[in-house]
Amino acid sequence: MVPGTLGAVAESGPTRLDQLRDVALACTRCPLAQGRTQVVFGVGNPGADLLFVGEGPGREEDLAGEPFVGRSGKLLDRLMAEEIGLTRAECYIANVVKCRPPNNRNPAPDEIAACRPYLEEQIALIVPAVVVTLGNFATQLLLDRTDGIGTLRGSVYPYGSGHLVPTYHPAYVLRAGGEAMAEMRADLVRAKRLVAERPEQSS
Ligand code: URA
Repeated sequence: MVPGTLGAVAESGPTRLDQLRDVALACTRCPLAQGRTQVVFGVGNPGADLLFVGEGPGREEDLAGEPFVGRSGKLLDRLMAEEIGLTRAECYIANVVKCRPPNNRNPAPDEIAACRPYLEEQIALIVPAVVVTLGNFATQLLLDRTDGIGTLRGSVYPYGSGHLVPTYHPAYVLRAGGEAMAEMRADLVRAKRLVAERPEQSS
């Protein structure tokens, strides 16, 4: 979290995530606010062990207000079920930027910087055992690295009190298929094993 960046959000747990969502829904911190239909804050279990982070909403997500509901999302849902045995409701899914970049262009550095406190605060509130970053933007942002995903994936990185597992963006896997699909599956199995290693949380 970046304390104070987004104003005081006083309580703990899911309530604070709801409050953060309310702040995000009214956000005008960057020019993407002007073109959006909806802010795509994130979806899933506020106490999830596993947090997926994508790049930013596309057209379908902008209309639905939910991340990864298009073709990439269908693949993500399928791989999540097949390799981890979880549904999207049991994990949490967020994006680097919460508003759709026009014509599905890449998010710009100033847009990523403006939106970053939301993602950091989501991670601080959810406290996942494992963050799985999907593609270059999420991976480079959270690891503070400039190497491409092809270099960064295949390893586990310390992140907060847990781990970060980088993998390909599902849109890339849809295009590339074959080996990329197998590598993404292996990354998700890696993430599943790390979640299983997490000590039981006392409530
Ligand atoms: N691609 C992303 O990175 N995020 C979404 O929510 C949808 C597609």
